[in-house]
Amino acid sequence: MVKQESLQLIEKLSNASGVSGFEDEVVAIAKEFSASFAQVEEDHIRNVYMRVGEHKKDRPTILFDAHSDEVGFIVQAIKPNGTLRFLPLGGWVPNTIPAHRVRIKTADGTEIPGIIASKPPHFMTDAERKETQTIDDMVIDVGCISAKEVTEKLNIAIGDPVIPDVAFDYLETMDVMIGKAFDCRIGCACLLETLQELSKKESAFNLIGTMTAQEEVGERGATVAMNNVKPDLAIVFEGCPADDTFSEEYMIQSGLKRGPMLRNFDVSMITNPRFQRFAKETAEKYGIPMQSSVRKGGGTNGAIINLTNKGVPAIVIGVPVRYAHTHYGYVAYQDYEAAYQLAVVIVNELDQTIIDSF
Ligand SMILES: [Zn+2]
Repeated sequence: MVKQESLQLIEKLSNASGVSGFEDEVVAIAKEFSASFAQVEEDHIRNVYMRVGEHKKDRPTILFDAHSDEVGFIVQAIKPNGTLRFLPLGGWVPNTIPAHRVRIKTADGTEIPGIIASKPPHFMTDAERKETQTIDDMVIDVGCISAKEVTEKLNIAIGDPVIPDVAFDYLETMDVMIGKAFDCRIGCACLLETLQELSKKESAFNLIGTMTAQEEVGERGATVAMNNVKPDLAIVFEGCPADDTFSEEYMIQSGLKRGPMLRNFDVSMITNPRFQRFAKETAEKYGIPMQSSVRKGGGTNGAIINLTNKGVPAIVIGVPVRYAHTHYGYVAYQDYEAAYQLAVVIVNELDQTIIDSF
């Protein structure tokens, strides 16, 4: 696709409301985009399966995955004063949560604006000012003065999803995108572009893409997807946390404008070293910039996928996202482009013998 179209796709995906368990808008975008080049199916957890080309029994199956959900919140209770208690969906650090706008999505699909609020400093004791707040100290304020107003005027109910309210923007001067949910919507865009690109010619492989739900709450969508896909090889796209604004140079492993990150290790997976080496050599061969990472924490759908079938060789291609798991993030367009281009050339370089050698 031309850059303008890619940016439009990323904008749509980033702006879509799709916290864990409520991924419907993202699912709709994927289905619409891939309808012209893939056979599309969906399951009940809202995983999308996109089969490219004709699938034959005697060919290896290559899986491409990205997760559709984003971190957000869920309404826990409505307080008598008209504010809402909430719980996190996915990993948040409490001190990044308050003083941001959110959207509460009600049962009929209406989105109600709200503010995540905490006790104003004027009313805090000296001791309270020094304490770190927890989510239990915060509420979502939707401008109401009673619980009755919340339910009757706004139709908000316990269990409604809460989405960070951020609009995408492309900053042309820096060639950088700002927005929410790049973890993993930038990966979703990579997935869709990769599948579209690979659909243009006949493949020696069975190609399938999964856009999986509920990764942020423990890779639940991928777990279900692996009941339905038996891959021989997998490429997992991620919006991975960028580390270049607070790490020493020698520790930067996912900096902006340094290319996609190939993750060697995190607490959830030791990447198949043979496939990983092949991916890096392919990047070098095509002059695609790339970064290697070894992570103390973290975790991706690769963790689930690589433990299925016969132990699926899986690599993680991460697009660096500054400030993942907060309201806002930055992604460099060139990292995005290099990420899906890397996936495409890897597939083009593969054959049965190479896959068997992993
Ligand atoms: Zn992610």
